Amino acid sequence: MRQNIVAGNWKMNKTLQEGVELAKELKEALQAQKPNCRVIIGTPFIHLTEVCKIVDQDLIGVSAQNCADHESGAYTGEVSAQMVKSTGATYVILGHSERRAYYHEDNAILKTKVDLALKNGLTPIFCIGEVLEERESNKHFDVVKSQIEEALFHLSADEFKKIILAYEPVWAIGTGKTASPEQAQEMHAFIRKTLAEKYQQSVADEISILYGGSCKPSNAKELFANPDVDGGLIGGASLKAEDFMGIINAF
Ligand code: PEP
Repeated sequence: MRQNIVAGNWKMNKTLQEGVELAKELKEALQAQKPNCRVIIGTPFIHLTEVCKIVDQDLIGVSAQNCADHESGAYTGEVSAQMVKSTGATYVILGHSERRAYYHEDNAILKTKVDLALKNGLTPIFCIGEVLEERESNKHFDVVKSQIEEALFHLSADEFKKIILAYEPVWAIGTGKTASPEQAQEMHAFIRKTLAEKYQQSVADEISILYGGSCKPSNAKELFANPDVDGGLIGGASLKAEDFMGIINAF
């Protein structure tokens, strides 16, 4: 059975001290009120070790927001999947639209990152999604399908079962514009059908597909009520414990 998941993406926000504070607040809130979904927080690299020490990872999973596309060596400023794993984190967000747009990460690079993440025992939270122009020209299904095919379809069914997908229409990220519940369900069902065609329906049915893009406490419930929406990847609203808890409590 697939899991319902609410994952936060802190992006490049919070000093180490602020991040530790937020992790503590979330831990307390979740200990007081057990969630009905898996909760994950995606912190900056430098927070990972401290946050892992604070949280019980059965309660809150810890994720990096990226990893290098090389195993190790002369890649100044990069952080490898093995290094991420050594902090205690067990997830890594890959293919976020900001990484694709600002750091030129294409599907070939992401394919390598996915392989390195899996090889090092990290669960990729793999982001896909179209830009506004692609939706307006009705190319959104093709774009999302190619992102999945090119970065993930080399995986065996057993490997694919370790992936969490996050559909994040780029026009909805940090813009305050949310996909309607119908738009989200339509794309999530398309993604699951694409997976079923490549693997089997039973494999597709096991994959959690999260929605991301201006998800907040006020709209999470109707988004998550859709049969193929298994939770959310949350940016802005993951930066305050109260907002993030409001989304977690939508389950
Ligand atoms: C994200 O960056 O993954 C995201 C969904 O951001 P926001 O919730 O702020 O739109």
